[in-house]
Amino acid sequence: MYYHIILTDHCNLSCTYCRGKLFLPSAAEEKGPDIDGDLPLELDYDPEILYRFLEKDPDASLIFYGGEPLLRPDLVCEMVEHAPARRFLVQTNGLLLDRIPRAVMNRLDTLLVSIDGPRETTDGYRGEGTYDRVMANVQKIVSGGYHGEIIARMTVTEETEIVRAVQFLADNPDFSFPSIHWQLDADLSSDHRDRAFASWVARTYNPGILTLIEAWVGRMEASGAVPRWYPFIDPMEDLLTGRESLLRCGAGHANLTIMTDGSIGPCPCMVGMRDFYLGHIGDADPSELSMDPGAGTFCAGCSIRTFCGGRCLYAQVLRPWPDDMRRVVCGTVENLHRGLLDALPKVRGLIDEGIIGLEDFAHPRYNGCEIIP
Ligand code: SF4
Ligand code: SF4
Repeated sequence: MYYHIILTDHCNLSCTYCRGKLFLPSAAEEKGPDIDGDLPLELDYDPEILYRFLEKDPDASLIFYGGEPLLRPDLVCEMVEHAPARRFLVQTNGLLLDRIPRAVMNRLDTLLVSIDGPRETTDGYRGEGTYDRVMANVQKIVSGGYHGEIIARMTVTEETEIVRAVQFLADNPDFSFPSIHWQLDADLSSDHRDRAFASWVARTYNPGILTLIEAWVGRMEASGAVPRWYPFIDPMEDLLTGRESLLRCGAGHANLTIMTDGSIGPCPCMVGMRDFYLGHIGDADPSELSMDPGAGTFCAGCSIRTFCGGRCLYAQVLRPWPDDMRRVVCGTVENLHRGLLDALPKVRGLIDEGIIGLEDFAHPRYNGCEIIP
């Protein structure tokens, strides 16, 4: 099981698609979910309780998460040193990577680093100077001997030219990200009236995805390797092997979240949503902690349910979209499905010719990449 460990609620950025939304005038009008207002802002339990809980899971992976988890380098160092886990990952905005001692950094299996594409796109969403600081930190840890997986973790909204952004990160001469994941900002609960989301999806995003799938397969053909572009590699591996999927992010079935008071929930975006708590690290048994993420959702009867997996538990629960917007969001999944199906014969051909192998699609699942985008 993967566990998102919330180390702190604080963050040193206020990105437009994340905390920045709290300052929109329309945010005040929207009624959000019932959140536990007593949840501590910083991790507030004895790590030994967490370790005793983790000892019962022989395949535990910890994803350090926040807020910005590297605001608490003390906890990262403590847990990497003492937690009985097989893997350690961090999902970070990248600004504080230089706070982690090299010996600890080199024990992290995966870094999910938020970066949204070229400098102007990244800085436009996340503040001036962010791109340069993130890139400098990534270059520094690589030159310091880091050999784990580094995933560029993009958030994509209407200001993003998806084709250019992905190709920029893949081919960047300063540092070419070997793994890329992107996530749509599809939480339209507070700002759908102000956004041109549907027209951007139709004009830019959906056609861009088809272009990127073609480029992705072209790279396989040219290099004999399968670029680890998570929104493609994960469902394509399943199409090749005929495997059906539950929620691809793993929420509730392969990926849980441990909150700052030790409560356990299904997803890091559902922090404080008491109605969905699954237990507490003080007395829970990991083998008994899971929920059926498909129960009673609007996905029942969807023809691509086993491809999509239901997309997002948080969205299924909160329904942050008016019906017309839900159709637009689901349309992005249908577009991805069609694009990958169209590419399938060519990919099979490359495998048959020995240019790539099925094993080249192997990748970690549930590692914090919130597939489907
Ligand atoms: S495409 Fe939409 S309705 Fe279908 S499974 Fe995915 S989220 Fe559910
Ligand atoms: S995709 Fe949805 S359910 Fe999955 S981790 Fe993200 S917010 Fe949670």
